[in-house]
Amino acid sequence: MTKAEALLDLQDIDSVIDRLTRRLTEIKASLHETEELIAARSALRAAQESATHKRATRKDLELSDASLETRITQAEQRMYSGLVKNPKELLDLQNDIASLRRQKNTLDDQLFAAMVALEEAENELETRTTADARIAAEWRASQGDLAVELTQLEHDFAEKTGEQAEARAQLGAPDLVTYDQLRRRKGGVVVVEMENNLCGSCKVRVPAHVLQQLSQAEHTTRCPNCERILVRV
Ligand SMILES: [Zn+2]
Repeated sequence: MTKAEALLDLQDIDSVIDRLTRRLTEIKASLHETEELIAARSALRAAQESATHKRATRKDLELSDASLETRITQAEQRMYSGLVKNPKELLDLQNDIASLRRQKNTLDDQLFAAMVALEEAENELETRTTADARIAAEWRASQGDLAVELTQLEHDFAEKTGEQAEARAQLGAPDLVTYDQLRRRKGGVVVVEMENNLCGSCKVRVPAHVLQQLSQAEHTTRCPNCERILVRV
């Protein structure tokens, strides 16, 4: 695939995504969301956040626990190595080990509590996920054709977003930067095919030296008038 083809491909996909996004916005505005649906969605989001937070807490505690365990093992190895002969130093070492063990006991209690809390959060998340899916399905059934269209649009949107990622992977960073900047500034279509010697967008005649760039290997240039990316494929 040439760069020109890759740019056109990305533009085509993004144009479809633009159209889908406009229609999705329209439909969502005209569909009536019930309080039950909104509440179910918000409860699901809260359950997701809570589970994420509790997973992180458990992970942190496990890491601290493992690091304490290592320190205890090292201190004990030193104590029984026979290398420490000074009674005062031995006593200090014993005290250190006892203190580390107390810390570890406290941490183990916290870890156990964190695991229980996480299990509860995971159960809650499962319950909320099921409830949200059931309520959303009932709601969609009550909304008729618009909801059917919404389901189809969301499916198409997900598919096109995947294609968009693949198309972007075909292009280098500088081209993507130019493309994204133009899309932000102008919106809509920013990659256009030449129509004979005219820019396909603003229809201004493209000078010979620009045409020459088009016939080179990469087959892309910029319209001197509207700045859009010109391609010939
Ligand atoms: Zn132009």
